[in-house]
Amino acid sequence: MEFILLDLEWNSTYAPPIQRYFNEIIEIGAVRLDSSLTESGSYTSLVRSRYQSQVCSYVTDLTNISQEDLRREGIPYRTALYGFRDWMAKGAAPAERVVLSWGDGDLRTFWQNNIVLLGGENMLYLGNYADLQAYVRHRCKLPTTQQTGLRAAAELLGISVEEHEIHRAVTDSRLAAEVLRRVYSEEDFADFVKPVTPDFFRRMSFKPRYISRRADAEHLSSPGNPLINGTQLYCICPHCRIPARPLYEWYFGGRSFNTVCCCTRCGREYKAQVTFKRLFDHIEIKHQAKEL
Ligand SMILES: [Zn+2]
Repeated sequence: MEFILLDLEWNSTYAPPIQRYFNEIIEIGAVRLDSSLTESGSYTSLVRSRYQSQVCSYVTDLTNISQEDLRREGIPYRTALYGFRDWMAKGAAPAERVVLSWGDGDLRTFWQNNIVLLGGENMLYLGNYADLQAYVRHRCKLPTTQQTGLRAAAELLGISVEEHEIHRAVTDSRLAAEVLRRVYSEEDFADFVKPVTPDFFRRMSFKPRYISRRADAEHLSSPGNPLINGTQLYCICPHCRIPARPLYEWYFGGRSFNTVCCCTRCGREYKAQVTFKRLFDHIEIKHQAKEL
C-alpha cells in the first residue's frame, strides 16, 4: 500500500459563472510514502486564480503565499491538476493507494474546484481515501466533537512543529506524514479507508438532516414510500418490552413525531418520540420513551 498525504491551500474567490464565492485552490502539495511510511516523492504547485487578481491578506498571513508568488510561479488550475495526476500515476495503481488529508475539507474543495473550473473532472484516479484527522482522533481517543488542528495533534504526539513552521501545502503534508507515522497501525487503519467511487463525493457533501417538514412527514402515511411508513410510529415500554398504547394521535413537532403512550401491563406513561434522519442512502429511525 502506498500513502499520499494531500494538502491544499485556498482563497475565497467570487466565480461569475456560479454567481457565488467558492474556495479556489491556490496551492496543491502532496508527499508520497511507501508501504513502510518512508517518503518516496513529493508534488507541489502554485495555482493562479482564474477569476481574481487578489489573494486576501488573511490567506497571505496564513500561508505566506503572496500575490507576487502566484503571479510569478502560479500555473492554471488545469495544468496543476494534471501535473498532480501524472505525478500520482508514477506511483502505485489507484487500488493500491490511499490518499489522506487532515479532515475531508480538502477533498470537498478539490471536488468543488473540479466542478467550477473544469466542469466536473473525473477523480476516480485517487483510488482510496482516508481522513487522517478522524483516524488520529480514533487512535488518540480524542472526543469526536473536538476539531483538532494538524499542528495541535502533532504537538500532542510530541512532534516538533518548529521545522514545519511555514504553513505551506507540502510542509503541512510532511507534518501530516509524521503524524501518520506516529499513530499508524495496520490492524485498524483499513477501517478508515474508503474507495473513491462515483458516489464518493456526493456522499461526502451530503448533509444529513432530520425529516422535519410537514410535507415530508406526509410520506408517513404514504404506503408507496418504502423508506418511511406509519408502522414506525410506536413506543415500547422499557420495563415490560411490549408496545405501549398511544393516548393521542401522533403529532409532528420540532424534529420528531410525538405522543403520550401508556403501557397496558405496568400502567407507566411515556412521552414518546420518533425521529427520522435522512442520511445519504437510508433513513435513520430513532425511538425514545421518557417516563412521565
Ligand atoms: Zn410497562
